[in-house]
Amino acid sequence: MRTSHKTYSARVLPNSLADVLLVGSIVLAASLFGILTRPVGFLAAIWPANAILLGLMVRNRELATPANWIAAFVAYVAADLLTGNSLGITVWLTVANIAEVLLGFHLYMRLKPEDRFLNRPIAIVCLLAIAVLTSAFSAVIGTGVSHLMFQRDIIGGFTVWFTTELVNLLVILPTLLTWSGKSELRAIVRRARDPYRWLPAIALIALLVTSWLVRGPGAFAYPIPALIWCALSYSLFTTATLTLLSSIIQLAGASLGFHEFASIADPLAATISIRLAIAMIVLAPLAVASVNAAREDLLQRLNHTASHDALTGVLSRAAFLEQAEQQLGNQPANARVALLMMDIDYFKAINDRYGHLMGDKVLSAFAAAAETALSSDKLFGRLGGEEFAALLVGADESAALAVAERLRRAVERVTVMAEDGSSTSTTTSIGIASLESNGQDDLTSLISRADKALYLAKQRGRNRVEIYRPEQDTQAPAA
Ligand code: GH3
Ligand code: MG
Ligand code: MG
Repeated sequence: MRTSHKTYSARVLPNSLADVLLVGSIVLAASLFGILTRPVGFLAAIWPANAILLGLMVRNRELATPANWIAAFVAYVAADLLTGNSLGITVWLTVANIAEVLLGFHLYMRLKPEDRFLNRPIAIVCLLAIAVLTSAFSAVIGTGVSHLMFQRDIIGGFTVWFTTELVNLLVILPTLLTWSGKSELRAIVRRARDPYRWLPAIALIALLVTSWLVRGPGAFAYPIPALIWCALSYSLFTTATLTLLSSIIQLAGASLGFHEFASIADPLAATISIRLAIAMIVLAPLAVASVNAAREDLLQRLNHTASHDALTGVLSRAAFLEQAEQQLGNQPANARVALLMMDIDYFKAINDRYGHLMGDKVLSAFAAAAETALSSDKLFGRLGGEEFAALLVGADESAALAVAERLRRAVERVTVMAEDGSSTSTTTSIGIASLESNGQDDLTSLISRADKALYLAKQRGRNRVEIYRPEQDTQAPAA
């Protein structure tokens, strides 16, 4: 539906009525929420419409069509007219809102995706910069209205507007930008089964309750340690969402007068200060969560690099041996376990004839074919050169033989093309050994027996599978 936005007709006509209705109803609902929850004598404290519209457009840039911007404009106007404002005031407010979102959208589109979606810590600085610029822009446009509506002086009107937009953008945008789809939700549900995972969230609730019990201007800082703990424990999205909830509770508490400021005579100054404080507090957990996510990502990539062979992408020797050892350790003494040792036939000849690069391609193609032939739960690794191994837990000799035959035939079907258009195919010999159920057997001797069977397969003509037999030990190996 949305790919056709790029066509000429789609740009002239509203491509999809559904998109227009979607954008319009989201803005309408968000504006009504802001209007219905606003304190007397103020413009809205929680004004989610601009942040939600901006998040929606940044996430789905194909929605940023003239038709959808007009739908948003109409929705802002419709919501505000319901409050009884005159059309002139309403249009003025709406221009300020739309201008903010348009500027934010264009700034966001200049960022790299990793900065747009807060995937690295410096993205928090980008978020702050964009929020400051867009809030200031709409405050410049909107200050005149608050002067008309509330007879506020220019500086006061600007500051209230600016801080309100700033806090709303900083509080709401991160949740929208870091949501990574349904898999995010599934991960949250899965992790929630561990009761200890709840502790940071419980600590946050406890500190929010404390900030209502032990009131005063300092109360806004109480939840910070819990938010940092959340940032260290949860995903970026969960942290952003908890920060959003905590901030809304604090903003609502401030609007409802839960925080008493005996020393501040000017309620306007108090409002500005509260909104700024909450806007600034948001940045701390976001930065920590972003650093944490970037670090986890790096660790995961490092781990992968360390445990996987760079050429073929399968487990490296050390990782294969370590994981095989682990899997064997988890098996009862009488478990059925087989090990396949594979070695590509006449591989040196491929290198000699087509060059090392082609040899590398054959190795990769071999590994890919073997991985496909094995089921995904089987350990498979490159032990070195053109030698690979697979551990088949739960497989007796005949099952292992069937797997090995399937793998051997899959490798036979592999052809690899060289740069000059010539192609080559390859075969593999496979040796099988099974774990002995005497409780004494271990990985080293399993590998050594599979190796002997592999040797026999080579001797008997290659491109074949052999199972280790104890008699092999009494026969002296040929050269
Ligand atoms: P056989 O059928 O007896 O196994 O003969 P073969 O030629 O496959 O065995 P041999 O052990 O004589 O040769 C293995 C060759 O594999 C030698 C080595 O240069 C090559 N080799 C090892 N690692 C790599 C690699 O990463 N890339 C390439 N292109 N060649 C490699
Ligand atoms: Mg070989
Ligand atoms: Mg070899």
